[in-house]
Amino acid sequence: MSLNKKNITVVGAGLVGSLLSIFLANRGYNINVYERRKDKRKNIDFSSRSINLALSHRGWKALNKVGLENKVKQISIPMYRRVMHSIDRKLTFQPYGKKNQAIFSVPRGKLNTLLVNTAEKLELVNFYFNKKCIDIDLEKSISKFEDTLTESIISVSSDHIIGADGFYSKVRSVMQKTHRFNYQQKFIDHGYKEIEIPPNADGTHKLELNALHIWPRGNFMLIALPNLDGSFTCTLFFPYEGEISFSSLETNDQIFNFFKKTFPDVLDLVPDLIDQYKTNPTSPLGIIRCYPWVINDKVLLIGDSSHATVPFYGQGMNSGFEDCYIFDQLIDKYQNNWTNLFDKYQNERKKNGDAIQDLSMYNFIEMRDRTGDDNFLLQKRIEKKFSEKYPNKWLPLYSMVTFSDISYSEALKIGKKQENIMKKILVTPNIEKRWDSIEIENKILDLL
Ligand SMILES: Cc1cc2nc3c(=O)[nH]c(=O)nc-3n(C[C@H](O)[C@H](O)[C@H](O)COP(=O)(O)OP(=O)(O)OC[C@H]3O[C@@H](n4cnc5c(N)ncnc54)[C@H](O)[C@@H]3O)c2cc1C
Repeated sequence: MSLNKKNITVVGAGLVGSLLSIFLANRGYNINVYERRKDKRKNIDFSSRSINLALSHRGWKALNKVGLENKVKQISIPMYRRVMHSIDRKLTFQPYGKKNQAIFSVPRGKLNTLLVNTAEKLELVNFYFNKKCIDIDLEKSISKFEDTLTESIISVSSDHIIGADGFYSKVRSVMQKTHRFNYQQKFIDHGYKEIEIPPNADGTHKLELNALHIWPRGNFMLIALPNLDGSFTCTLFFPYEGEISFSSLETNDQIFNFFKKTFPDVLDLVPDLIDQYKTNPTSPLGIIRCYPWVINDKVLLIGDSSHATVPFYGQGMNSGFEDCYIFDQLIDKYQNNWTNLFDKYQNERKKNGDAIQDLSMYNFIEMRDRTGDDNFLLQKRIEKKFSEKYPNKWLPLYSMVTFSDISYSEALKIGKKQENIMKKILVTPNIEKRWDSIEIENKILDLL
């Protein structure tokens, strides 16, 4: 324990809490991390949520800062493009960014394990598992935990408490009882279910390995990300209710007929599809919006506890990792005044938390509705060509969010402007034939 430094309690040893503990210990603070779940590192399963995640620039930047980039590379698979699967089994391809730019499929359990192991090796970090936060004294900065095995209660006093306890945050729920705390929890009409495409007999992948696969079907979609063991994890994003929905697919026949009609190639790839569909849970998707994220210099929310979002931009974890990176940067300036530090942090991050939620909903519609559409693919081609020629004038929205440091709120603003320009360009007569002409280029320049 360092003598002159503060003691910080981190609630939650998920992806964000464990990464944050590394950043803070590297600054010399004493960190105690309390996690509700048991230490499942041997079974590498910290969370029942999605098996693999898309990791991109913002996440990598934070991992790089704590020296973990290379270790995470070893457990991740680059995905250079989207592969769209149509109902009649036709494939269309769309690169994610420039040549060699990729998003990476990384296993949640392995990543969480790596982060906890790395943090635990640092002298200043201690983890306590089976410790569920049940209350916080926001004024005195005392947190209470129940041991989930013995039911005994402990009180922990520290200089600061950081709530990295995810969507259903207990820390946030205590803050909710303070005056003027704004809170919104909104579930969308769709939920998700994961289905595994097993490897070939020789261990190879059944679909193109270095790609994210999408089966866009209008109001719903299926996606698949590759795993290291040769399998793919598919996620079906599907309405809970309605004519075609989780609630309407119950019997074996209904499930079989639906997949045969809608995702015939997937049915061929997953021999036990009906069993998986019936056994694997259906989980909800939603957002959390709240404000403030801090109480004086005592309590701060970070990651999903403050800005959980729907997963359609693949940015929930990435934005949480960026939270850690930005918080660490602000420590440089404000370490002697934690009221200021917390305040600057929420000023900087709140607008970006809101923006990534808006962007995520926007991308849901784009992925499920538009990726199969010729006009959309044409738009992407026009944008790509223009941005290659004028990289300082135009970066496609997806690249701003996924491959750049441009803040989410700025990306949203610029993205809206670009979308309006593209709407005007796409109604040009015969655009499919003239899209790469100088005339179109000049028209975009005029509109910018
Ligand atoms: C289907 C799906 C797909 C996703 N795909 C992507 C993706 O491709 N890319 C991406 O960037 N993001 C993705 N996300 C989002 C990502 O999973 C989250 O943003 C990320 O897990 C947030 O990390 P966190 O540490 O803030 O919260 P969590 O991962 O939820 O961790 C919170 C931790 O706190 C613990 N905890 C909770 N309550 C208490 C308590 N009372 N006391 C003590 N501990 C407690 C929990 O057990 C957990 O370990 C996806 C999410 C879903 C649902």
